[in-house]
Amino acid sequence: MVKKRRTRMIILLAFLLLIAIGVVWFLRWTNPDFASSLKSVQRNQVTKKLIICVDGVPWRTIDQLRQKKHFKAFHRPSKVIVSFPTMTNVTSTVIWNASKVAGYESAYFDKDKNLMVGGVSKYLHKRVIKPGDFHQHFDYLEPVPYEFLIYVLPRRICKSDLKRFLEAYSSSEKDKFCTFIKSTDGLMHILGKEGAEEILLALDDILQKIYYSRKGDIEIMLFSDHGFNFGKSQRVKLKSFLKSSGFTVRNDLRDENSVILLSFGLVSFAAIYTGENNKRKIAQQVPVLEGVDFSAYRMNNIIYIFGQEGEAKILKKTVNNTELYKYEIISGDPLSYKDILEKLTHLGKADGEGYIPDSDWFEATKDHPYVDALKRLYQAFSGQVESDADILISLKDGYFHGNALFSRIATILGTHGSLLDTNSVGFFMSTAQDVPSHIRDNQLTDYLR
Ligand SMILES: [Zn+2]
Repeated sequence: MVKKRRTRMIILLAFLLLIAIGVVWFLRWTNPDFASSLKSVQRNQVTKKLIICVDGVPWRTIDQLRQKKHFKAFHRPSKVIVSFPTMTNVTSTVIWNASKVAGYESAYFDKDKNLMVGGVSKYLHKRVIKPGDFHQHFDYLEPVPYEFLIYVLPRRICKSDLKRFLEAYSSSEKDKFCTFIKSTDGLMHILGKEGAEEILLALDDILQKIYYSRKGDIEIMLFSDHGFNFGKSQRVKLKSFLKSSGFTVRNDLRDENSVILLSFGLVSFAAIYTGENNKRKIAQQVPVLEGVDFSAYRMNNIIYIFGQEGEAKILKKTVNNTELYKYEIISGDPLSYKDILEKLTHLGKADGEGYIPDSDWFEATKDHPYVDALKRLYQAFSGQVESDADILISLKDGYFHGNALFSRIATILGTHGSLLDTNSVGFFMSTAQDVPSHIRDNQLTDYLR
């Protein structure tokens, strides 16, 4: 009896000891105190170019901080208009001119295999970086479990991400050091604008220390891969809407009624996969749902867009290597481009068929809420990821779509994914050069070389 009790006691103590070791290890591993690491940046006197991508930080926020005299070492930040959906997987592929990724998010639908792949389980595995993947550019990248833990302990994880970056930079002997601070995105989803500013001010201190420790003998480039819309957001009930419209939402396309609705991250776009015959039906119906801004699908090289007030279409042609786009209002103007279209036509920019050069559209819409929408929507249905969606839905600010369980666990104070300018305008700035006020994500590649 006594012996049995003793054995049980030993097992319990061993168990508690294991938990204690785990907690100590975790606390050390995620130590957020980067002040001590800041002292060691002096050690690196060789890096000439430091490139940092802060995931999801919008141009607007950086511009506001600059107006309050922060980030003084940098030249004026440029607006970087990124691809749609405004998701890291999509935009970073373009920014780094990298090989295509499988899906918009880590959980995706494989069209060829007709099955859903990935999801939460990937946080338990090591990150696999295939040749050509944009991740291969980074000298420091957060450990995979951070991608999940950031939603539980946003401040701690983000600060320890900065600490790890500092340590990697301080001991680097590379001419060019490149990093992706991924944790800013998760932190902003949970802590909103306040959280973003707190971390950006910390980053400003770090970068000032680095810049002045080298007496300016280093170029620092800071940029982001997409924008962000801040504010408390609510979930759009897309799944129940599709069900009530008579479709079967499932994990594979089995029959005429089958619809795949990707629901993973809490983001402001949605991707739908379905049979050819359903595309128009669904795209037409979805805009009545609260929170939906517009839906779009492609049929025979034409992009059809549906908003609450009706339908428009986008056509593209290339003449002598010049891309031209035509915006045709059918029964409505979901992109609010009517005035711009009239103005450009009045200025004689349209050809006999109504096509206007891409560069004119860019100039005319670069500060519009539906920024640079024609090219971006066209590209979104032209093989942006391996399994392009059949229908893309863009949500209004203040709304998100995604995993129901995740949305119950966390309150969302901001998100991204939609085509609106809030989500679509990232930034780029350098301590050594001026860059045009507005650039597209594919133009960033030249600066990052
Ligand atoms: Zn995100």
